[in-house]
Amino acid sequence: MGTLDYTVATLGSHCALQLLKGAKDEGLRTLLVCEKKRLSLYKRFNFIDDIFSVDDTSDIASDRCIGRLRETNSILIPHGTLIAYMNSDQIERINIPIFGNKWILRWEADRDLKQKLMEESHLSVSKSIDSKNDIQGLCIVKLHGAAGGRGYFIAWNRESFERQALRLKDQKMISGEQDLFIQEYVLGVPAFLHFFYSPITKEIELMGADRRYESNVDGLGRIPAREQLSAELEMSYNVVGNIPIVLRESLLLSAYEMGESFVNTSKNLVPPGMNGPFCLEGVYDREGKFVTFEFSARIVAGTNLYVSGSPYSDLVYDEPMSMGRRIAREVKLAIEKNMIDKITS
Ligand code: ATP
Repeated sequence: MGTLDYTVATLGSHCALQLLKGAKDEGLRTLLVCEKKRLSLYKRFNFIDDIFSVDDTSDIASDRCIGRLRETNSILIPHGTLIAYMNSDQIERINIPIFGNKWILRWEADRDLKQKLMEESHLSVSKSIDSKNDIQGLCIVKLHGAAGGRGYFIAWNRESFERQALRLKDQKMISGEQDLFIQEYVLGVPAFLHFFYSPITKEIELMGADRRYESNVDGLGRIPAREQLSAELEMSYNVVGNIPIVLRESLLLSAYEMGESFVNTSKNLVPPGMNGPFCLEGVYDREGKFVTFEFSARIVAGTNLYVSGSPYSDLVYDEPMSMGRRIAREVKLAIEKNMIDKITS
């Protein structure tokens, strides 16, 4: 089968524009599954060949939608919105090819599995704290799942934890303290490292880096300390956008090593391993050491910065290479080599 026999499909949100633009640039057909309320946005872009409209994001798993994806011989690209609205069981049950390794998405969603994969990859990892009684020093308290940082707070002892957990419960963001995950707070500079691993070429590529612009935590520094103290402000890490980062060149070697180690470990723990795009998320501490606090086992929205390529992809490719286009290139390569099974699950 040739390139035009396949369609690259995704859900209308997160990084859909970049994904489908990249697919079109590589000569593939494109399909967007889109909620009705978002149609007017996506209709503006002529690189989207076909739009399948649904009432709700979760309808992507409906027979009607899966039927359309099958008819068009689609490869579905998972992203943050897909995994925010579907649980691991639902994703694993989708009966059409999903780009990358869908089994590893469960390891992203489950905090314990996530911690295990990071630790066994020999990354320096921000410690998780089992009980509020063990909080000593600064901690960040997170909601489970891809919450996009909403509702996260800082605690420094049991009392500060309980007070803020109660606030979230009052706001109906959690049902109780059991919905919270406590992690050691790492002081330094947050950075999100975007990688792509090809099971065909067996090469890892660093495609870019970003930091997030988060509300309201990134606004706190605009208020003098006196007002911060007296106003009793509530904080949150709600992602509003992304800011590009170019790493010091001396940090690049260890970035590649971390990516490689993560890929190698994932081959043993979650076969066939971390194929396709992924992101290591952490903080460079004051010694310049990267302490990982999370990973995403799929494309991250920070790659939207590099629709025209990044300072790293430009070193490898003589043409603009976004993460979306890199994914489409892998699909093309797999079609040529008759290896679609290797890049999908
Ligand atoms: P997503 O699922 O969209 O990737 P998330 O909900 O998992 O996001 P995180 O990436 O875990 O959220 O964290 C949100 C923000 O909180 C980060 O951008 C970073 O600023 C901060 N953060 C998270 N963990 C730590 C940590 N251990 N130490 C310091 N800051 C942290």
